[in-house]
Amino acid sequence: MFPARYWREIPQRYRLEAEKCKRCGRICFPPRSKCPKCGSMEFDAVRLSEGGVVRTFTVIRVAPSQFSDQAPYAVGIVELDGGVKITTQIVDCPLDKIHVGQKVRVEFRRIQEDGSAGILCYGYKCVPVS
Ligand SMILES: [Zn+2]
Repeated sequence: MFPARYWREIPQRYRLEAEKCKRCGRICFPPRSKCPKCGSMEFDAVRLSEGGVVRTFTVIRVAPSQFSDQAPYAVGIVELDGGVKITTQIVDCPLDKIHVGQKVRVEFRRIQEDGSAGILCYGYKCVPVS
């Protein structure tokens, strides 16, 4: 992960900030400069819901080096209330208990630590709600 990109995306990462197209209503997350549906470049800022449902997931057992200390872990596509889908880690749940249709909530968590520089990167993860 490039630090510059990481810092640029912090508002979205912290606030789940998305953009809603003023012309067609499509919600873009992360925000884009141009609506992928109608091409409009005018948006309103909207905040995504923190609640959602697991639509699909997979368990990563052989992780990229920066995540190897977390393996095995689950990554899934979560559909937030309102229809926006995000790809996210699913945590605080035994891996064999995660299922499609599981209700989850978005929380802000540490994503990784840059070993040499000790930089902590934060982002959203999903935790099950009963
Ligand atoms: Zn649009």
